[in-house]
Amino acid sequence: MVVSKTDEEWKRELDAQQYRVLRKKATEPAFTGKHLHNKEKGIYVCAACGAQLFSSDTKYDSGSGWPSFWTALAKDNIDEVPDRTLGMERVEILCKNCGSHLGHVFDDGPQPTGMRYCVNSLSLNFKKKDTK
Ligand code: FE
Repeated sequence: MVVSKTDEEWKRELDAQQYRVLRKKATEPAFTGKHLHNKEKGIYVCAACGAQLFSSDTKYDSGSGWPSFWTALAKDNIDEVPDRTLGMERVEILCKNCGSHLGHVFDDGPQPTGMRYCVNSLSLNFKKKDTK
């Protein structure tokens, strides 16, 4: 982890909704996120630290209600951790650069990877591709 901040610092820097998701592992309600239907070309970065995490080229509509990607921009940018909360066996995904919660990864995605990176909109900022 490169960016290391105290809980107090995160609380001050993030808005309340982002803080709950990124730092307290909350999940935004399905079909509410601002990036869900975004089809513009660009890069999705960590809303906490700005690390580049996902590309619009791998975004797809999973029907889950959360932005979904079939791969990460670079696997090295994401940590995967077993998550057995809520009576489910899931794999949590976190920003490797700052340790913030992103969502979960499942193995029911489309080819070529068969993976579904299911990410909270609140965990991401979108950087539109410069078309100039
Ligand atoms: Fe981050």
